[in-house]
Amino acid sequence: DKFKHMNLKEELVRGIFAYGFEKPSAIQQRAIKPIMKGRDVIAQAQSGTGKTATFSIAILQHLDLTMRETQVMCLSPTRELAVQIQKVILALGDFMNVQCHACIGGTNLGEDIRKLDYGQHVVSGTPGRVYDMIRRRALRTRSVRMLVLDEADEMLNKGFKEQIYDVYRFLPPSTQVVLISATLPHEILEITSKFMTDPIRILV
Ligand code: AMP
Repeated sequence: DKFKHMNLKEELVRGIFAYGFEKPSAIQQRAIKPIMKGRDVIAQAQSGTGKTATFSIAILQHLDLTMRETQVMCLSPTRELAVQIQKVILALGDFMNVQCHACIGGTNLGEDIRKLDYGQHVVSGTPGRVYDMIRRRALRTRSVRMLVLDEADEMLNKGFKEQIYDVYRFLPPSTQVVLISATLPHEILEITSKFMTDPIRILV
């Protein structure tokens, strides 16, 4: 398989090559297409497999850049990972004029609100701050079409379960869900059965 043959937007393929990727990794070969088709996907994968670029490419393919509203929300367990995801999305989307905000704890609230107010296509954040911004109505959820839960098992280990459920309750009921997790313990399967419809499971 090749990035050129995946039916991706031309400017996205340019971004992928400019970033230095030549061909899709195993998880990218298996997961990008079903995510693009709108399927709910559970990917059991560790970091190092190319998981971040997998959902980042699918997210960028998915976006309607003619409207500057939040269409994708990505939750991860640490501030560093949320920022790393933001960087990958901005880099791969370098030719796309995409707005992607890292919504993380420990940063200035007013600044967060101002950036969200400006309009962000993608919000990559930690569950606590993201939920805080939703409650303050700084982060609008009505146009969200995709939720990514990255390192879902780590988010549960860090005690984010309630906040993940809180965020999910604000999303439109038809929201597509993509979940990445190294392990699939009971609490993850609970999330997948509550949030997902007929998910495809990919083990890398
Ligand atoms: P991740 O699993 O998201 O932590 O990614 C691990 C590393 O693989 C990162 O440094 C990525 O930049 C790199 N990577 C991801 N996809 C590809 C690809 N298709 N070709 C080459 N490197 C990649």
